Amino acid sequence: MYMEEINLHDKAFVPYLTEVEIQNAICDIATQINAAYEGKEVLFLSVLNGAFMFTSDLMKKITLPCEISFIKVSSYLGTESTGRVDELIGLNTSVSGKHVIIIEDIVDTGITIDKVIKLLEMQNPATIEVCATLFKKVAYQGQHPPRYFGFEIPNKFVVGYGLDYDQLGRNLPAIYQVKN
Ligand code: 5GP
Repeated sequence: MYMEEINLHDKAFVPYLTEVEIQNAICDIATQINAAYEGKEVLFLSVLNGAFMFTSDLMKKITLPCEISFIKVSSYLGTESTGRVDELIGLNTSVSGKHVIIIEDIVDTGITIDKVIKLLEMQNPATIEVCATLFKKVAYQGQHPPRYFGFEIPNKFVVGYGLDYDQLGRNLPAIYQVKN
């Protein structure tokens, strides 16, 4: 498909990664995961909303026995002493003793993934790894960099393939970068 510049709300975006490039990267990731977890069962935890498209495409290429669950991190104001409290919403299966792979759209600062992992570790999984379509390594400040990712990208805002700009653009099959 020929990719052209697009507009979402007040911003223009230019083509950055094509559908073919993304699908090839997903095949590579699936090959790595299928090999690394051979003989094991995996629990994939997809972080909504952004990871829905990546999750769907990746899961079709996974040949391991696996569970798939969709989660969200919610941060609410607790008591004065607890301050802000993070909780995982949607986790409908036990994590204890399982090989967990978290599926994210993009790892940027790494704050979201660190929160998810902190909450999951309370349930004593056997292993936890992170898998993401995109990794903004230059912006990363977290403790758990993605073990599997499609592309390392610069610190510029992107949309498409599940990623939104103020709720628009998630349906685009390719990835676009904000135009300067
Ligand atoms: P982090 O906690 O790693 O800084 O951010 C993770 C979340 O921020 C991602 O799951 C995504 O929802 C959002 N995010 C970070 N960078 C971008 C970007 O370039 N474009 C879009 N659309 N969302 C982003």
